[in-house]
Amino acid sequence: MDCIFCKIINKQIPSDIVYEDDKVLAFNDISPQSPVHILVIPKAHVQGIAELADMETVKDLFAVMKKVAIEKGIDKTGYRVVVNHGKNAGQAVPHLHFHLLGGRLLKWPPG
Ligand code: 5GP
Ligand code: ZN
Repeated sequence: MDCIFCKIINKQIPSDIVYEDDKVLAFNDISPQSPVHILVIPKAHVQGIAELADMETVKDLFAVMKKVAIEKGIDKTGYRVVVNHGKNAGQAVPHLHFHLLGGRLLKWPPG
């Protein structure tokens, strides 16, 4: 499949992997917007929230985000989880991904 994140999952494109199991991959964003900026994705290709049918996946993704946040030391200071879905949110990669952002004060509301 011609999906950049599927290629990262299949190791056809290199990435800086933070966590991996049979269902979930977490890797550093190539263009980090904060000191910690990790993308957490399901290994099964799903375009976005609208296409998400298997809600078990959501549990797996959140469990990994919780674990990775502790490992990266941002669980006490705080972090933000973002999913961009579709055009108005600026979703650039059509494979569902959670941005895990932390390590600095994050402004709210976002632009
Ligand atoms: P979106 O705008 O779709 O929510 O976020 C896509 C994210 O994927 C962006 O933060 C972008 O920097 C990241 N990204 C795009 N291509 C690559 C890549 O090849 N490797 C990694 N590690 N991150 C990528
Ligand atoms: Zn994909």
